[in-house]
Amino acid sequence: GSCAGNIVPNKTENGGRRDEGDRPDLAEQSLLNKMIRHTLVKNRNLVEVLQRDPTSPLYSVKTFEELRLKPQLLQGVYNMGFNRPSRIQENALPMMLAEPPQNLIAQSQSGTGKTAAFSLAMLSHVNPANKWTQCLCISPTYELAMQIGQVIQQMGKFYPEVKLAYAIRGNKMDRGSKLQEQIVIGTPGTVLDWCTKLKLIDPKKITVFVLDEADVMIATQGHQDQSIRIQRLLPKDCQMLLFSATFEDSVWKFAERIVPDPNIIKLKREEETVDTIKQFYASCNDKEDKFTALCNLYGSLTIAQAMIFCHTRKIASWLTAQLTKEGHLVALLSGEMTVEQRAAVIERFRCGKEKVLVTTNVCSRGIDVEQVSIVVNFDLPVDKDGRADCETYLHRIGRTGRFGKKGFAINMVDSPHSMNIIKQIEDHFNRKILKLNTDDLDEVE
Ligand code: ADP
Repeated sequence: GSCAGNIVPNKTENGGRRDEGDRPDLAEQSLLNKMIRHTLVKNRNLVEVLQRDPTSPLYSVKTFEELRLKPQLLQGVYNMGFNRPSRIQENALPMMLAEPPQNLIAQSQSGTGKTAAFSLAMLSHVNPANKWTQCLCISPTYELAMQIGQVIQQMGKFYPEVKLAYAIRGNKMDRGSKLQEQIVIGTPGTVLDWCTKLKLIDPKKITVFVLDEADVMIATQGHQDQSIRIQRLLPKDCQMLLFSATFEDSVWKFAERIVPDPNIIKLKREEETVDTIKQFYASCNDKEDKFTALCNLYGSLTIAQAMIFCHTRKIASWLTAQLTKEGHLVALLSGEMTVEQRAAVIERFRCGKEKVLVTTNVCSRGIDVEQVSIVVNFDLPVDKDGRADCETYLHRIGRTGRFGKKGFAINMVDSPHSMNIIKQIEDHFNRKILKLNTDDLDEVE
């Protein structure tokens, strides 16, 4: 095949491993988002650019033509259905493709076009006549590395001279002979082995180094040190590029160690707001009563699409079973599922095969499902101490009412305690949460 690696990776034992704890596994979350995302996320914020040399002109492009890409690559880009650069690409691509090469640290949420951008940069910088590794890209997990590889293969579809190899566990290689693939993508440990112990890659010949998902990277034990050790093997004039979805201090410190003299590009995530969302509560006596109330609402829920949040996996599966028993078609997104299974559930929900998705908070945190009109809090979000968890509340209901659409949030209340939580949420956002009447949902689109 075209641009395909000669080295076929084996699925390794870590393939389906998951963090079973309460904390969502960042690498999994990121993978899931990549698996379910086929378009750019909408983001109306402006890109912030901090140039290393503030006196040099700031280039930004509105078209791919302006980048003077190789025709094979331009064809690849258009073949992927890209018409114009994304927000972040408008600024990042000219910097990455500049001569002499510039270093870059870029931060923007998942789905804003980072992977496509650095894939294009690597493909552009490669000299296919040279049969050695020139671009090195590291990513936190096997699965995420594979995702990047797929993007490079698609984009390089009309540029088959460029070959790609995966430096991931399970790809057993013999010591000594040098790789001929111009681009290598892998996880830090294996990449380090290939550069040092096995000497398959001469790090001094690397001209572009990419570190993707820096925030996920540093969350994994050992990856930070390995990444820094790889970076130290590279020549001084190697272009260094680092990407991250978030930017806490720890990520920032790490980024500065990986990328000397960086240009910095940031695109803030769109703030979530309760302002465009009509919020209601429904008074119930207990769990069964909440279920009955939900059934009464069901017609409204399925006019558009709804997500129902439960406190635990157990309640989520109970509710799903009850709704199914009533003859309703619902999907369940649950923590027991593999990433592939979860992606399949979300995909079905997305294309409307099921109109209602039942989930827990842990499971769906960080997942972008955009077209939900109604969010039902079957259980209200609370913290460890049983107080209102307003941040989670906002994340949950922030999925509705986006981009000019009307959103609805319905909170199931089954005790004085939960009514008190409603009060706390009202106070926190300074917005009334009204008692639900039967005709309140008439405007659901
Ligand atoms: P990130 O790495 O920031 O998560 P990706 O590069 O994976 O973002 O892009 C997110 C989605 O948008 C992918 O499905 C990708 O194919 C698509 N995409 C990327 N750039 C463009 C573009 N310029 N035009 C249209 N779609 C794009």
